[in-house]
Amino acid sequence: MILQVKDVTKIYGQGENAVKALNGITLEIEQGEFAALVGTSGSGKSTLLNLIGGLDVPTKGEITIRDREIQSLKRGELTVFRRRNIGFVFQNYSLMPVLNVYDNVTLPVTFDKGKHVDHRYIEELLKNLGLWEKRKKYPDELSGGQQQRVAIARALANKPAVILADEPTGNLDSKTTMDVMGVLKASSDKYHQTILMVTHNEAIAQTCDRIIRIEDGRVYERGGAWG
Ligand code: ADP
Ligand code: ADP
Repeated sequence: MILQVKDVTKIYGQGENAVKALNGITLEIEQGEFAALVGTSGSGKSTLLNLIGGLDVPTKGEITIRDREIQSLKRGELTVFRRRNIGFVFQNYSLMPVLNVYDNVTLPVTFDKGKHVDHRYIEELLKNLGLWEKRKKYPDELSGGQQQRVAIARALANKPAVILADEPTGNLDSKTTMDVMGVLKASSDKYHQTILMVTHNEAIAQTCDRIIRIEDGRVYERGGAWG
C-alpha cells in the first residue's frame, strides 16, 4: 500500500464561517494504480490532493505515503520527501518564467542535490509530449496547452512514486488529451507509479484503473474499469 488516507476531515475557517471540505475520508491506493478523482465543483477534490501532497494539513485524520505519516515530518523533511516522492501537476502550471522548457522540466531533478539529469529520459519525455521542438522556448512563448504539457513533463521528470494531477488535460484538445493520457499510463506502467488525477471528463475517468468519486467531502466508489 503506497498511499493511505485515514478518516481525514478538513475544515476551513472557524465558527459560523467554517466549511467542512472533507468529511472523514478513508482511501487506500496501491502502487502502480492510476486512479481518477471525480466530483462536482466544490466537492473537495483539490483539498484532498493538497492534503495528500502535504501542501496543507488535515483538521483530523492521517495520511501515509510510503509508510511515512506525512504530518509527522518536520517542515524541511517534508520538503525533501515531497521532492523525492511526489510529482505535482497544478492547474495554474506554476512554471518558472525565467527558465526555458528544458530547464523547467529538469528543475525537480536539479533541485534534488546529487541527482544527475538523465538527458535521454528527458528527451524521450519531451518527444512523447510533443515538446521537443519547444525545449528552448520560454513559458510565455507557449500556448496554454503547451504549458500544461510542460507541467506534466516536469511532474514526471524525477520519476516520482506518486503523481498528483489536478485536471492535467483540462486545457487540451481531445487528440492531445489522449496522447497525454498515454504518456501518463506508460510512465505509470514502466515505473510502477501511482497516479491520482482529478478530472471532470467522464470518458477520461473511464480509461483509468479506478474511479474515486467525491461528493460533499465524502468518497463513493463505483463505476470504472473495476465496476
Ligand atoms: P473542488 O476541488 O472539488 O472544486 P475544493 O477542494 O476546492 O473542491 O473545495 C471544497 C470546499 O472547500 C468548497 O466548499 C470550497 O469553497 C471550500 N474551500 C476550498 N479551499 C478553501 C479555503 N482556502 N478557504 C475556505 N474554504 C475553502
Ligand atoms: P548547464 O550545465 O550550464 O546548466 P547544460 O549543458 O546542462 O548547461 O544546458 C545548457 C542548455 O541546454 C540548458 O539551458 C538546457 O535548456 C539545454 N539542454 C541541456 N541538455 C539538453 C538536451 N539533452 N537536449 C536539449 N537541450 C538541452
